[in-house]
Amino acid sequence: MDQVKNSGFKKDVEDDTEIIPHTPEEDFVSLIYHSVDEAADRELLLLQNRNNISPTCKRGCFECCGQYILINRSEAHALGQFIRRRFSADEKDRLRSRTRQWHIWNDNRTGKYPLSANPSADSRNGRPFCPLLVDGSCSAYPIRPITCRTHFVCSSPSFCRFSNNHKTANTEPLALTSVVAATKLFSQRLKDRISSNGTDFSLETMLLPHWLAIEMRWDFAISI
Ligand code: SF4
Repeated sequence: MDQVKNSGFKKDVEDDTEIIPHTPEEDFVSLIYHSVDEAADRELLLLQNRNNISPTCKRGCFECCGQYILINRSEAHALGQFIRRRFSADEKDRLRSRTRQWHIWNDNRTGKYPLSANPSADSRNGRPFCPLLVDGSCSAYPIRPITCRTHFVCSSPSFCRFSNNHKTANTEPLALTSVVAATKLFSQRLKDRISSNGTDFSLETMLLPHWLAIEMRWDFAISI
């Protein structure tokens, strides 16, 4: 925990603790996220200074939110706490509806979980965007999962768009994988904590909309 610093986000939501008390699990996730952000920023600065490489990811570009996002139980819990605390009843209803639509789409798709062996079945082809995406922005941005916090590319945004629909070697986005590597220590700490009570971490990792429905106890959630 020595390298995990205090989170600005935790302070940001503390005002509401009387309504939805903070849990040790979500606080731990917030601390991990803060450290992940710091490590990612350091690596991005290094890439800029040493290699003159900077991400082409910009506000308003959300094509990666159409990818399959894997999260674990603790991240789902932190998301749920944020939603319960911050979303209005209408926003929760709309989120529930988008998540349900995603489940309907997922139940009827031909590919296998989480990705199909058939690349054409993996192209977006009508796949709904992440249910948390609202008007092109992440509605849970402060508590978005590690996968979302560490994904950066240095290629044209059109490559991300194209790769969601047609996978070819010429248009594969150029991901800044060193950012993921630089943050690995912290994602590992989250895994270690989840595994510390004997839980099999691989069974704790599922697609975001699945975990979201389970965490929110919506009636269409898959059973685990
Ligand atoms: S959690 Fe937010 S950033 Fe991540 S895929 Fe969903 S909308 Fe995009």
